[in-house]
Amino acid sequence: MSISKGAPFVDINQRRIINGGDADVMQLYPMRHTFAWDAYTVGNANHWLPTEISMQRDIEQWKSPSALTADERQAFETVLGFFTTADSIAANNVVLALYKHITSPECRMYLLRQGYEEAIHTHAYQYIVESLGMDESRIFNMYREVDAIYQKDNLVLSLNEGVFDPAFKTGTFENDQKFLENLCVFSLILEGIFFYSSFAVMFGFQRQNKLTGSAEQIQYIMRDESQHLNFGINMINAIKEEQPELWTPAFAARIVDLVKRAVTLEYTFATTVFPRGIFGMNAEGFRRYIEHIADRRLERVGLPPQFKVENPFPWMSEAVDLNKEKNFFETRVTEYKTGGTLSW
Ligand code: FE
Repeated sequence: MSISKGAPFVDINQRRIINGGDADVMQLYPMRHTFAWDAYTVGNANHWLPTEISMQRDIEQWKSPSALTADERQAFETVLGFFTTADSIAANNVVLALYKHITSPECRMYLLRQGYEEAIHTHAYQYIVESLGMDESRIFNMYREVDAIYQKDNLVLSLNEGVFDPAFKTGTFENDQKFLENLCVFSLILEGIFFYSSFAVMFGFQRQNKLTGSAEQIQYIMRDESQHLNFGINMINAIKEEQPELWTPAFAARIVDLVKRAVTLEYTFATTVFPRGIFGMNAEGFRRYIEHIADRRLERVGLPPQFKVENPFPWMSEAVDLNKEKNFFETRVTEYKTGGTLSW
């Protein structure tokens, strides 16, 4: 990368999410993708740290032989087993794959914030595991040992492999489609589907007044993740506008197919977590919940919904429904700024 001396101020019409040219990634203005700046501002206002949340009650409940059933303990551990490595996968994708190829300076600004938030999330899981005195090697290695977690991570990692290749470059039809596919897999599937049955499990605990410190950590994480998802969807839609030739019928069909594969894997994961159902949430409920959110992700990028089912966990929609995002963030941001805790 070199600076061309004396070159005029960048023409805003040349700004692109990808393929915008090397020379202007240092100039934040002229800003074209203002959604990225908005996300950056919200992210800063939502700043939090895991150690601000008390884990005392969780520690007492985890140590008490009667506070939690064996099924509840197994569910909590398996969910953490997924979470502990998932945000590291997300961080790698942001820092090592996306950042290098994105030529919108304002999108890069948000990616830096997002990368830090992924680190805070991994910190939160570390803090929960350490506070409760869990076996770190067992929880952090579950992605290699529990097949349902391995299958989810493997789908994301294997599909995104090409973009991590040091020789990978955008600028050809084939590579630009590959990059867009990575973005769809990362945003719609990893951030948009694979976290959500685990979020539902954690709020199931919270609704029973169990492990509420851990659940509060997860609420802050879900608030951040909703922004990550929203930002990813905005980038997908911006690339669709800037390079409409990439979104062929075959490409669209492939994304729908990948989302359907992800729904199957997420359902298998949910049944591993709750083999007998728990807190009024059973396998059928989880299946419909996962299908419901998958349809919402498809719709946000202009793809047809595949399942058309009602949300069986309406209490989750308050927290995660992107339609309510604005109210959700406005109230939470204010509460956090005044030192209050999250409550739905
Ligand atoms: Fe994320």
